[in-house]
Amino acid sequence: MSIEIFFITAGIVIVSALVAMHGWTNSCPDCQKWFSRSLDDSEEISRENGYETVTRKDQTSHGNGKSSTTTRKEQVRMTYLKHKNFYSCNKCNHNWTALSSSKFEG
Ligand SMILES: [Zn+2]
Repeated sequence: MSIEIFFITAGIVIVSALVAMHGWTNSCPDCQKWFSRSLDDSEEISRENGYETVTRKDQTSHGNGKSSTTTRKEQVRMTYLKHKNFYSCNKCNHNWTALSSSKFEG
């Protein structure tokens, strides 16, 4: 097997796996059909603030073409969100809800 065929095969396998994963997460819990989920509405149910420690990298340039990197830990304010998502199936009209959470800095 030549290297090109190996990469093409590997590429096809990876793409199919991604499509399958995407299809599976977008499947209906009732009729199990893939790519049938549609998001009708989303409602924020909670919003909390917290702190997380992140590692920042600072680069200092010394003017002679050299630079050094120092790392420091910093506490950042985070916002945690919880959403209730309302889904419906476009194949069998089944309705369901699922919770999702996300976070962002700030
Ligand atoms: Zn369905």
